[in-house]
This record gives sequence, C-alpha cells and structure tokens, in this order.
Amino acid sequence: IVSRESHPQNSVVSVRGVPFGGRALQLIAGPCSVETPQQMAEAAAAVAAAGCRLMRGGAFKPRSSPYSFQGLGVEGLEYLQSAAREHGLPVVTELMDVRMLDTFLEYDVDVIQIGARNMQNFDLLKEVGRVNKPVVLKRGLSATVNEWLMAAEYIAAGGNHNIIFCERGVRGFEPAYRNMLDVTAIPVLKKETHLPVIVDPSHAGGKAWLVPALARAAIAAGADGLMIEMHPHPCEAWCDADQALTPEELTTLTAELRILAEALGRTL
Ligand code: PEP
Ligand code: MN
Repeated sequence: IVSRESHPQNSVVSVRGVPFGGRALQLIAGPCSVETPQQMAEAAAAVAAAGCRLMRGGAFKPRSSPYSFQGLGVEGLEYLQSAAREHGLPVVTELMDVRMLDTFLEYDVDVIQIGARNMQNFDLLKEVGRVNKPVVLKRGLSATVNEWLMAAEYIAAGGNHNIIFCERGVRGFEPAYRNMLDVTAIPVLKKETHLPVIVDPSHAGGKAWLVPALARAAIAAGADGLMIEMHPHPCEAWCDADQALTPEELTTLTAELRILAEALGRTL
C-alpha cells in the first residue's frame, strides 16, 4: 500500500488542513516534553511566531533510564492541547502504549507519533492502523529502509493511509553527535513510497548548534518538512536540553529555510 509501485503520484497527508507531501514544506516545532502550562504557553506562542504550523510536545516519554522524567501523562496532553489551540496549531505527540489510544482520541490529538523505539511494536502499529488519524512514523534506532516501509505497511493494512515518515538519525559509531542523520534515506524513501517524508534534525544531531546544518541538508535532499525541538528556556528543559533551539534561533532558522525552499521550487 505504501509503495510507489502501488500509487505512482505523491500522496498528500492533510493534518487539519495543513498538507504534508505537496509543494509546501511543513515545520513542526516544540519542546521535547510537556512540562508546565507556562512553558507550553510560551512555546506555542514562539512556534506560531516563527511561522511553524504544527506543535510537538511529549506527554509520554520513552526514556533510557526509568529514573528519568517519564512525562506528565494525560495532564501533559491537556497542557499541550490548550496551549496549541490558543494559536490554532495542530499537535503531534507520542503514543507509547495501545492502552492510551482512546485517551489520545478523546483529547483529539491531531497526529499520533510512533517513536523510534516503537517502530516495530507491531501491536501498536496495528491499532493506529485502525483509526483515522495521521501518524508520524519515526525510523527505528537501527532500522533498515525496508523494515521502516514494512512498519508503515502494518499501519496502512488496517486502513489508515495517513502516514508521514520521519528520519531521525540512526545509531552510529561517532560519539560527537547523538545519531547519524541518514540523508541518503530521504531520496531512497521518496523513490520507494508515495507518502511524505520529514526529518528530525534535533534527535539526529543531539546539539542545538547542529540543527541548522542538518535541517538545510534535509530540505536540500528533498524532505517534505522538519520536526524541530524548541524550548522557551533550553537551559531549564527537563529533557533533551542540549538540542533545544531558543525561540529566536527557531525564527532565524525558519527565515533561512524559507530562502532555501524557494530556490528548490517549494514554499515554506
Ligand atoms: C521524540 O521525538 O520525542 C523522540 C523521543 O524521538 P525518537 O523516538 O526519534 O528518539
Ligand atoms: Mn527529545
């Protein structure tokens, strides 16, 4: 279902009227995790001011250590939605457990994110395949392109074809950055599937100063959009502080990317 063979034209996935996969590039921005109503209000204002059309924020966090902050849970969904709605921003947030799917639907989450660690959680994929909600499917920590395509196929087989692929870097050998952004995967995926492909330069680089370079590379290679971590006060972030842009950095990057997009015949 997801292969270009089955559907030669690009598919556009619409998130409350925001199109992914057309000529327009889309930016999703927001903090790694939802922390407080105040943080979310500031973040939503900054996302909208920078011209990004969707907001991210994790309420359920897949942390390496069980002793790290695990997310606010349902309370986080509430803070995320009320802050984002204030600015008319659709929200993207991670679903880790099938048991929370109904709650996500109750809170009217606009895009369900399947995180890297759950790319091959087949029961989770099957369940989101049964609902009519756009899904951001992140690439597994060391997943091949084919495994990634098959993960999407699990979702599509249930009837939900609203899938957006998200490259976020793969496990490499270099400790100077968090993951290796697989730029090559972007044109490969665009060749293999008709569905939109976005890139998360934040989890790839793991450092805020690397985000602009990786973002430019992703757009130049044909990505349909980006998901970027931004925190109103990065030094105080409860999670992934090193990689969060400030609101000012996000605004500067967006302006830069707009010029690049135009040169490539796309809009931002
Ligand atoms: C995230 O986007 O919040 C996240 C945890 O990313 P990943 O699943 O790519 O590690
Ligand atoms: Mn993060």
